[in-house]
Amino acid sequence: MPQIIYHNGTMQIDHVSIEALASRYPTPFYCYSASAIRQQYLAFADAFADLPALICYAIKANSNQAILTLLAKLGAGADVVSEGELRRALAAGIPADKIVFSGVAKTATEIRFALSKNILCFNVESITELRQISALASANQQTAKVSMRINPDVDAGTHAKISTGKRENKFGIPFDYALQAYQLAATLPGITIVGIDMHIGSQISKVSAFDEAMQRIMELIKQLQELGINLEHVDVGGGLGVTYTDDDPSELTLLAEYSRVIHKYATALNCRIIFEPGRFIIANAGILVTEVIQVKPVQDKTFVMIDAAMNDLIRPTLYEAWHKISPAKQAAPDALSQPVDIVGPVCESGDYMAQNRPLTTVVVGDLLVIHSVGAYSAVASNTYNSRRLIAEVLVDGERDQLIRPSPSYRQLIELDSVPDWL
Ligand SMILES: *Cc1c(COP(=O)(O)O)cnc(C)c1O
Repeated sequence: MPQIIYHNGTMQIDHVSIEALASRYPTPFYCYSASAIRQQYLAFADAFADLPALICYAIKANSNQAILTLLAKLGAGADVVSEGELRRALAAGIPADKIVFSGVAKTATEIRFALSKNILCFNVESITELRQISALASANQQTAKVSMRINPDVDAGTHAKISTGKRENKFGIPFDYALQAYQLAATLPGITIVGIDMHIGSQISKVSAFDEAMQRIMELIKQLQELGINLEHVDVGGGLGVTYTDDDPSELTLLAEYSRVIHKYATALNCRIIFEPGRFIIANAGILVTEVIQVKPVQDKTFVMIDAAMNDLIRPTLYEAWHKISPAKQAAPDALSQPVDIVGPVCESGDYMAQNRPLTTVVVGDLLVIHSVGAYSAVASNTYNSRRLIAEVLVDGERDQLIRPSPSYRQLIELDSVPDWL
């Protein structure tokens, strides 16, 4: 990202130096570039500007209210997977008629809440869920707009923990049951069929997987038309990959290839196309700023211990994710690197940010920047080891502002209550 680069020997995000930020906000903290988020969103929107497209940002990637507000102002809709996310989207000013409700097992309470808000549609994940939505809607003389999430059984070629479109994954209605689901939907009370939906996985860098899935979806749409079921929209899901390592394809190249695949089918579709990008919009717009608290050489390696840990950023240990890590102060061009393990203070061997990573010499007090953590990072943090959730900061040009403070220890402890009979 051009927004996150060295300038006169120190790293900056937009026009603010990391050192200046760290003097105002205690480390560790997340920091996002508003201009980088805008740039990604607009690049995505531009790629489909000639189509009747709606971009429903998958807010589980990063659901901070400031970020949702920024995207709402650009015209984004939302893809939500829980009542909490639906409430967040509405609170940020995203209109209900731009919100789709995914989520693999929605509860009755969640369905009722979404019905009361009259959202754009429910992405239905199973035939039993379809029946449940019908019962809840008709009991209240309401109509639920539905779209079936079809599991097209394609291999997205991504990490096992983020693959969702294969037969063995829990997501969606199996391809072979799809027609049956639509035929049932057409007869159920309280249901209007509006679309079809898929989402085959995340961090997909092989666009042929989207192509394969689209072919299958097109087959179904044709069969539905023969049955007299016409759709208002096709939701192609999210999943487009981003650049984490220098070996990954460039994001804009991927976007162009992806756009070509979608355009191949767009004319035949002749209806609205919904996209649910998450990671693509935000992953590379975020960094985590952390301070070195110990450097511990042992027999055959060195541990660089930092004040951020797996509870703040779980991706390296959960997905074996590789995140670039660089010193905030630029190393001399001739500085030597040696491989180190960059680890946090949590009592788990899985608490690492990088293993065997070449790094120039660092000393206690140095600031490090962990890159590409805008998506699936702050949202997945927790308070394990009674560590406070860390702050989030938004930078835009020369401005910066706290968009989520770190709760105090007192607030952390006061979440619990002790029975008076103890
Ligand atoms: C997670 C998710 C997305 C977003 O995926 P990205 O890889 O972040 O683009 C979109 N749709 C659904 C249903 C999801 O679960």
